[in-house]
Amino acid sequence: MNDNTTHLMAAYARQPVSFVRGRGARLWDAEGREYLDAIAGVAVTSLGHAQPEIAAVIAEQANTLLHTSNVFRIDWQERLGQCLCGLAGMDKAFFCNSGAEANEAALKLARLHGYRRQVANPLILVMENAFHGRSLATLSASGNPAKQQGFAPLLPGFLRLPYNDTDAVRTAARQHPEIVAVLLEPVQGEGGIRVADAAYLQQLRELCDARGWLLMLDEVQTGLGRTGAWFAAEHGGITPDVLILAKALGNGFPIGACLARGGAAELIAPGQHGSTFGGNPLACRVACTVIDIMAREGIPARAAALGQRLLNGLRQGLAGHPEVLAIRGQGLMVGIELRHKCTELVGRALAEQRLLITVTRDRVIRLLPPLICDEAQIDAIVARLVRLLAPIAKEISA
Ligand SMILES: *Cc1c(COP(=O)(O)O)cnc(C)c1O
Repeated sequence: MNDNTTHLMAAYARQPVSFVRGRGARLWDAEGREYLDAIAGVAVTSLGHAQPEIAAVIAEQANTLLHTSNVFRIDWQERLGQCLCGLAGMDKAFFCNSGAEANEAALKLARLHGYRRQVANPLILVMENAFHGRSLATLSASGNPAKQQGFAPLLPGFLRLPYNDTDAVRTAARQHPEIVAVLLEPVQGEGGIRVADAAYLQQLRELCDARGWLLMLDEVQTGLGRTGAWFAAEHGGITPDVLILAKALGNGFPIGACLARGGAAELIAPGQHGSTFGGNPLACRVACTVIDIMAREGIPARAAALGQRLLNGLRQGLAGHPEVLAIRGQGLMVGIELRHKCTELVGRALAEQRLLITVTRDRVIRLLPPLICDEAQIDAIVARLVRLLAPIAKEISA
């Protein structure tokens, strides 16, 4: 392969592989080698690569109308708003083009909520190890000091707490009357696949109700079936005030959404927020199609069953492995926490097992397979990971 990366900013440490074609959970490189995709473009292509219905809709809409402007009514945007709000129990939607932008919209809602309540310096509670994006506001909300280094001054107005710790929230509530909102991921993805307890989510809901705070769930990664429910909030039996979506919503076509209900849905007035591309007919029609397919195919329930199969398989196949500290997850969002740094496993998995994985927080293998995988593909992911990790067990015992 030619090295044409000379003119790309060095934002990514890239693997020396490029895919030219995909189908479902499979990918092919230029040499025709076949790979099994266990990351789905980082939780994006949940319905698989080159999904034929989505491809057809993209072509048809491109031949009809791509973009007008939010100066005008957009029929597909209105339909998507109705469909998503119905699905999530929300009242109103704002559409944009990425997860970071959707979180920006949520953060602006929280600030407006504070402004309406005449809180001079509103505080938003955020969590350790959180990931909300790379814009300055979402980077400031994220809990990864390494990724924040070099970008000072960060945005003020965030108070960081340990994740899954209700007492920490209660203490903060007593000390800081300026708190107006809580922003968190119901399962931390980049943070190493940490699953919030149902009780924690319920207690947050109660605290937010009692104190008039907005409960804002960043479901950019967990939303739309990934965790075995339409939204991970369902595992806690709660509905947030603000729900943030992106990744899987367009199955690879860029789109983000910030949904809100109750008072939070009424905060934004004309002129207070906007996006040129956000909510264009193409993106919204694709997202409507994604949701139609997910509903028709029972994708959330499928993810729950396949996720259980993946967890069971990994726990069996890696039982007693000296390097494995924990195997955890929810639905098809699974992490294998290792004892030592293991970022080199991404390249080894590609080269030796023809398997796409990611490693987050240096020590956690993260698996986010497409939700349309079949059982044989889930079993193949397990088998390839067990083979990948076998030499490490020998190195340790040697
Ligand atoms: C990926 C991700 C984001 C950022 O989304 P972008 O589309 O990359 O801006 C935000 N929050 C969570 C939880 C994510 O997983």
